[in-house]
Amino acid sequence: MPAEPEAGTGQPVFLDHQATTPLDPRVLDAMLPFFKDRFGNPHSTTNRPGLAARAALTAARAEIGTLIGVAGETILLTSGGTEANNQAILGLPAAAGRDRLAISAFEHPSVSEAARRSGLTVDILPVTADGFVNLEAAARLIGPRTRLVSVMAANNEIGTIQPLAGIAALARSAGALMHSDASQAVAGMALDAPALGLDLVTLCAHKIYGPAGIGALYIRPAPPLGLQPLLHGGSQQGALRPGTVPVALAAGFGEAARLMRLEGPGEWPRLAALRDRLLTRLSGALEGVSVNGGVAPRLPGNLNLTIAGIDAEILLLELMDTVSASTGSACADAAGKPSPSLKAIGLDAARISVSLRLGIGRFTREADIDRAADALIGAIKKQRSPLATL
Ligand SMILES: *Cc1c(COP(=O)(O)O)cnc(C)c1O
Repeated sequence: MPAEPEAGTGQPVFLDHQATTPLDPRVLDAMLPFFKDRFGNPHSTTNRPGLAARAALTAARAEIGTLIGVAGETILLTSGGTEANNQAILGLPAAAGRDRLAISAFEHPSVSEAARRSGLTVDILPVTADGFVNLEAAARLIGPRTRLVSVMAANNEIGTIQPLAGIAALARSAGALMHSDASQAVAGMALDAPALGLDLVTLCAHKIYGPAGIGALYIRPAPPLGLQPLLHGGSQQGALRPGTVPVALAAGFGEAARLMRLEGPGEWPRLAALRDRLLTRLSGALEGVSVNGGVAPRLPGNLNLTIAGIDAEILLLELMDTVSASTGSACADAAGKPSPSLKAIGLDAARISVSLRLGIGRFTREADIDRAADALIGAIKKQRSPLATL
């Protein structure tokens, strides 16, 4: 029987912050007025509720932009990270002489699947066993026929921070555009899009304690990129993304971005310390624990482990009432496919099946880490005991 949660906590310890994050209560407060009285259509410019909604939208886009060092006017709001990635990849059809797309070997499926369907020839930029795009290999693959390079800022499964400035420089010298999926990254590092030389950046609210259902694509304003719309039928957002923008979600996204900008740098060392505590507890009590992906540079809240002799899926199902974690990326999980990132860094199916992703976030406390470590250690020892198979 799974251990009872401690009195007063009630909930399992949430260690799946790479799949989604809990809504910050301050984000909920920022959204509530727009679900109640402030219901205007931000695209109605001839009535007061519409104008008020538009002002809220402008403020939200400014906050979202500020998180990555850009102006609010360059922020296209989408239904999430998935749509923003699809917009970046599919919005740039082949141009004269440029019919190739270069993406890393461990992009989120919303990049890799969009690339596969783009009609362009896809070049896969290999990653090292430590989980970083190999710059020498990238330099050979990015060339005069490359239309777009897309490399995530930080990996959603193993947390490794990619050498974006170097890759963007390769793209620029080849005359290609540079996109980065930063959905995961901005929860654990500062990112200045212009300083890195990025033309397009994907953001996602529900990875930074904002609501699910909204994301953003930063689009470098000048010279124009010539991005084509995916949706048609209205003039909203410059007709690039028609459809009424959900003001409540946008306001929540703006508040989540503002809080991350102000509090992130202070909160990241705490997350890293909790991550290190969890690793120390687990590897102190158990044989055969190793970290997947290089230790640095890595997002502070991410721990991805191979733990010899376990069945990760059965372990998590057994611990359902105590610890919430993931066996790979949540997206890969649901389809029952092995994790693309763990595969890309060279893990075979057997090692992937004994891998766990433990993600720590803003509301994780030291007591949560200790409770999760105790539960994991107990369940793993039990699973490894020969009696467990009888
Ligand atoms: C979560 C995530 C996405 C998808 O965002 P949604 O808003 O869930 O569509 C894309 N890329 C990365 C790296 C992510 O972590």
